[in-house]
Amino acid sequence: MKVYSVKDLLVEDLLLQEVSVKGWVRTFRSNRFIALNDGSTIHNIQCVVDFEKTPEEVLKRISTGAALHIEGTLVESSGKGQKVEIQVTRLEVLGDSHPDEYPIQPKKHSLEFLRENAHLRTRTNTFGAVMRVRSTLSFAVHRYFQNNGFNYVNTPIITGSDAEGAGEMFRVSALDAKNPPLNEDGSVNYKEDFFGKETNLTVSGQLEAETYAMSLGKVYTFGPTFRAENSNTSRHLAEFWMIEPEVAFMDLDGNMDLAEDFIKYVIRYVLEHCKDDLEFLEKRLLDEEKTKPQNERSSMTLTEKLHFVLDNNFKRVSYTEAIDILKNSKPNKKKKFQYIIEEWGADLQSEHERFLVEKHFKCPVILFDYPAKIKAFYMRLNDDGKTVRAMDILFPGIGEIVGGSQREERYDVLLEKVKTMGIDEKELWWYLDLRKYGTAVHSGFGLGFERLVLFATGMTNIRDVIPFPRTPQSAEF
Ligand code: ATP
Ligand code: MN
Repeated sequence: MKVYSVKDLLVEDLLLQEVSVKGWVRTFRSNRFIALNDGSTIHNIQCVVDFEKTPEEVLKRISTGAALHIEGTLVESSGKGQKVEIQVTRLEVLGDSHPDEYPIQPKKHSLEFLRENAHLRTRTNTFGAVMRVRSTLSFAVHRYFQNNGFNYVNTPIITGSDAEGAGEMFRVSALDAKNPPLNEDGSVNYKEDFFGKETNLTVSGQLEAETYAMSLGKVYTFGPTFRAENSNTSRHLAEFWMIEPEVAFMDLDGNMDLAEDFIKYVIRYVLEHCKDDLEFLEKRLLDEEKTKPQNERSSMTLTEKLHFVLDNNFKRVSYTEAIDILKNSKPNKKKKFQYIIEEWGADLQSEHERFLVEKHFKCPVILFDYPAKIKAFYMRLNDDGKTVRAMDILFPGIGEIVGGSQREERYDVLLEKVKTMGIDEKELWWYLDLRKYGTAVHSGFGLGFERLVLFATGMTNIRDVIPFPRTPQSAEF
């Protein structure tokens, strides 16, 4: 007999047919009603057991978490909450769940508790919904780029260049940690290491992606990225997934257009394809908001937040304008910001970014033309000599979701920048070559996939939108 998914059983026209289904028990009530879930949808299928015909020892084994194979007739349900149910004719317990020990009881568990049980947490409605949305979003990412003529490039995870400039790196080494070969000055001799040089986990695939943009034209990466920054925030992971499109002959305006169009596409895609999960997550968010003090509650529901992005043009504002706005803002004058904005050149913190989006402009914001001093070496220098063609996209509740730029395409200017920033130009010979052979204006950006999932699901901690989060002091599983 064909095994149906719960999702299919609930939507397909199978009334009065004999069906078969496999899944895990969510609840078992009155020795009669099993709510079975198989991960295909947030909804359960109700399976009604005839307890008079079912042996006592089988009934005993039906408990939350147990794996079952059920056969029966799909009938209209007279009970509340579901249209159809299965009248069970055959039931097999495939795997017991040891109810005295099983951690995921049919009650509300805290997100912290579930993080400690990350191997089981996708058996809850919340994490099932989050991970289905995550999967759909990642498919939408590929769809968008593939539909628009981009080539998917897999840039290396182990990198030999330490010039990516985006933060602290994790070293990759095969040397004996207790007894490494040393140079005369006492430093570790990486010439004897596996790759004959010092290597790290990548913090960005951008530099390598640029080489592909300068031949394939439009490319994107979508892969794991690592940062050893010790920032224990709800928006930072040590291992996260980044999407990095890079396009030849595209300037910063084109880059902004691309980023806005791309984000709107993927958000629209989940709105259309994850209705049930989003409906659940919307209710979850409402419940969570109710537990917060009135003044910390978000004024938007999840659907409103998603439409806030879809229905608004992203407001494009220069860094210089933004600094003026922030300097003159109430929270700055009243010293409500943790970091007070004193002058031009300051790096913006997430509190400032959120103020601009949530309080001042009330729409997603793209900040551009940042001070060269606070941005990476590869960003194109403006004629004013002090700002670069950088852009960050700022979202409600999150702050920065995208960081990008038009890249410096002029050999001399780039070389000068590399030198003044104290980067070893020999390390970057291949990157500089791009500016020697057929150089062209080009641009790209990086979007942290988990920040996107965080936004789309209305979750508040980035640890809850990746299957097994890696953060300082934590790499269980
Ligand atoms: P932030 O200022 O928030 O630390 P960043 O400026 O270091 O970010 P970029 O180097 O511009 O970030 O990286 C591009 C994008 O990658 C960011 O816009 C963000 O969406 C995401 N990102 C950066 N660092 C992390 C991290 N540690 N965990 C998850 N996502 C990240
Ligand atoms: Mn950034």
